[in-house]
Amino acid sequence: MSVRIASLNSGSNGNCYYVSYGSEAVLVDVGISCREVEKRMARIGLSMQTVKAIFISHEHSDHIRGVEVLSKKYQLPVYITPATLKSSRMILRPDLIRSFRSDEEVQLGNLFVKPFSKRHDAADPYSFVVSANNIHIGVFTDIGSCCANVIRYFKQCHAVFLEANYDKEMLESGMYPYHLKKRISGGHGHLSNHESLELFNNHRSDHISHLILSHLSKDNNSPELVKQLFENHAGHTKIVVASRYYETEVHEITQATSHVMTLSQARMTTFLQPSQLKLF
Ligand SMILES: [Zn+2]
Ligand SMILES: [Zn+2]
Repeated sequence: MSVRIASLNSGSNGNCYYVSYGSEAVLVDVGISCREVEKRMARIGLSMQTVKAIFISHEHSDHIRGVEVLSKKYQLPVYITPATLKSSRMILRPDLIRSFRSDEEVQLGNLFVKPFSKRHDAADPYSFVVSANNIHIGVFTDIGSCCANVIRYFKQCHAVFLEANYDKEMLESGMYPYHLKKRISGGHGHLSNHESLELFNNHRSDHISHLILSHLSKDNNSPELVKQLFENHAGHTKIVVASRYYETEVHEITQATSHVMTLSQARMTTFLQPSQLKLF
């Protein structure tokens, strides 16, 4: 059985990532409203009933905006460290608060979630690898630099939501004030397109089938530019750009290296004989 993944929104206006295996799923960050989560999941055929927990990477509002309402409405446990909870000022039901530690796996049924600490200008920031059936999905956004942890976990993944926040030249020549430019590119902000590309080129595994470029800046990047940049180096990896405005389709991730297909392609090939497959 494959792991199913989707971005419900990605960018400084809100982040929410879905990973499921069978009837169990987790959300990493809920930076859009509960209503938008429900609406977008329904549009791509995902059920809220599958969601077993929410994991919070850090307290910036684009990662937590919808957490209180969603957790309360569906009685979902929220995995968040004490420092992040304090900085977030969220009011969560005490019996739904769970903590975690860096490099210690949390098990939820058949899903395993491994948090690891990384560099970002927040109180206690983490990224996550969500695994099931030996398939590993990275959710790596809001990364100041590619530290040893990011590299170590990136190497394991079959699919990654990877930040490609800004094009260096667009940021440098753009309208942002100097202090903001420094904050973004200063090692505790965000990854540039080329920093992400370097990580992908130097540290990807043979089995990475999907790279979902995430958390693109509205002002200092363009989806077309970043897609082209990565496609030039993609090999067998499917390159997807997650939108700031709507959800991606659901992608099915398997263990097979050459098994690069979207859900709609998977449906299509189900009805084809092996002899017909070579037409594709
Ligand atoms: Zn963010
Ligand atoms: Zn952030």
